[in-house]
Amino acid sequence: MLGSMMKRDLLISDLLVHAGKYHSDTENISKETDGTITTTNWGQVAEGSRRLASALGKLGCAFGDRIATLAWNNVRHLNIWFAVSGSGLVCHTLNPRLFPEQLIFIINDAVDKALFFDKTFMPLVPGIRDHLKSVDHYIFMGSRDDEVLAAVPDTLFYDELIETGDAGYDWPQFSEDTPSSLCYTSGTTGNPKGVLYCHRSTMLHTLIVAQKDTLAISARDVVLPVVPMFHANAWGVPYIAAMCGTTLVMPGPGLDGDSLVDMIDTYKVTFALGVPTIWQMLLASARKKGSKLETLERNVIGGAAAPSSMIIEFRDEYNCETLHGWGMTEMSPLGTLNQTKAKHADLTTEEMVNLCLGQGRPPFGVDLRLVDEEGNVLPHDGETQGALQVKGHWIVETYYGKDADNLTEDGWFDTGDVATVDADGFMIIRDRTKDIIKSGGEWISSVELEGTAMGTAGIAMAAVIGVRHPKWDERPLVIAVRAESANVSEADVLAQYEGTIAKWQIPEKVIFADAIPISGTGKMLKVELRETYADAYMMEGA
Ligand code: AMP
Repeated sequence: MLGSMMKRDLLISDLLVHAGKYHSDTENISKETDGTITTTNWGQVAEGSRRLASALGKLGCAFGDRIATLAWNNVRHLNIWFAVSGSGLVCHTLNPRLFPEQLIFIINDAVDKALFFDKTFMPLVPGIRDHLKSVDHYIFMGSRDDEVLAAVPDTLFYDELIETGDAGYDWPQFSEDTPSSLCYTSGTTGNPKGVLYCHRSTMLHTLIVAQKDTLAISARDVVLPVVPMFHANAWGVPYIAAMCGTTLVMPGPGLDGDSLVDMIDTYKVTFALGVPTIWQMLLASARKKGSKLETLERNVIGGAAAPSSMIIEFRDEYNCETLHGWGMTEMSPLGTLNQTKAKHADLTTEEMVNLCLGQGRPPFGVDLRLVDEEGNVLPHDGETQGALQVKGHWIVETYYGKDADNLTEDGWFDTGDVATVDADGFMIIRDRTKDIIKSGGEWISSVELEGTAMGTAGIAMAAVIGVRHPKWDERPLVIAVRAESANVSEADVLAQYEGTIAKWQIPEKVIFADAIPISGTGKMLKVELRETYADAYMMEGA
């Protein structure tokens, strides 16, 4: 025998064993549904998760069963998340912002065995319960509560259930290819599809995404995942926090700007992650309150394109470095992140902001390619635009319950995004394939036009869509929402485009609206906007 190395399966429970053993007194903060704060630590989370895993076993949940949650980011949810995956069950985080019919479809499709729910989402349960075919146990995430019992008869109570578990429970050992968690895509068209992650893919994502050239999370950080645990596993942050022994600040229902500013200032948050709509609210609140977000060193903007005005404001007003990231539920989710290289050390401020406007480069573990409509591979020259395809260690192969894989013949996953990539791998998302605007035969990026519109003083939010045009087939149209008490005009918005893009790309029209419809994961619902404003350029005088 030449000698050998130990072979251990990569299991999620090991993250928690490590956190419980070496970071047991590192605190975690949780805002509960009633607004109260629970302070706990990794030692308590490690014990609580063992107890809960044991209790679920006694309840009859068997290896591979799917266990659903309808919950905010809070400490009970964190315990469920580790208890379920760690014990060989599958943690199915549901998006509570979906319509009841969508929840019913997803829970039945996943064949969930139990459903944990927070008090906030209790009113949803009676309406869907009769339609759920597989759920044997409803478990309220709190202590005994008569109001809950009246609304959801026979419900179990988390705080009682966990007491029936054994604190000495041993995490089972099994293959790292075992499924660990399940997230459904947002499904803006058609029914949502399930992405079934496994222990190995999750652990590889965790190991890489924690690194210095990705999220750079350490034991000295205090991390606020504003991104919900139901949105692609909170971008992997709870796993990374357990691995690194990082303090988690879980915001519960407090996702408005004022609550987030308070959480950052009170708990000295150093790093926070969320979608642009969240940051928009947070910046408005920080300005109003006069907070300097003193401790916030870095933030991640992902899930949708980050406008330059936002990146600049974080840098200039709050001394906070923004990492712009791109990913998908199908990618666990991280695909690229905007971390610079040594050669960028001397970039001017403007060049640096331009670099940040792109979505960054892939870490080891993700490969990118661009293809044209015939499937020919296109060059990575920073200019040629094509359909973005990916391959890697934490990318979906086959959707949940589907027989055929979802890949190209040579094994790549088509993201549905259109992008450019340069020789260093820096990628810029130009659009979703279905959102890109084709005007007079030329392509226009709605993402780029949105970024510029959002940079106009007095604009709180802007979406750009392609709508039918009598002469050019399609033209870009700006739908904008004014900031509180601002009286910015159409001409002000259009003036922003002068000199930044070719004249023919500049939209003709801005329509002001009270709000832009937003999906459950914070993305602008452009399908809805396209329906509402379909004839904006067809009307007389347009
Ligand atoms: P989801 O799986 O719901 O997170 O959606 C994934 C999709 O969100 C991607 O395919 C992109 O279209 C979009 N997306 C995510 N991050 C970004 C970003 N930083 N810039 C532009 N689009 C993004």
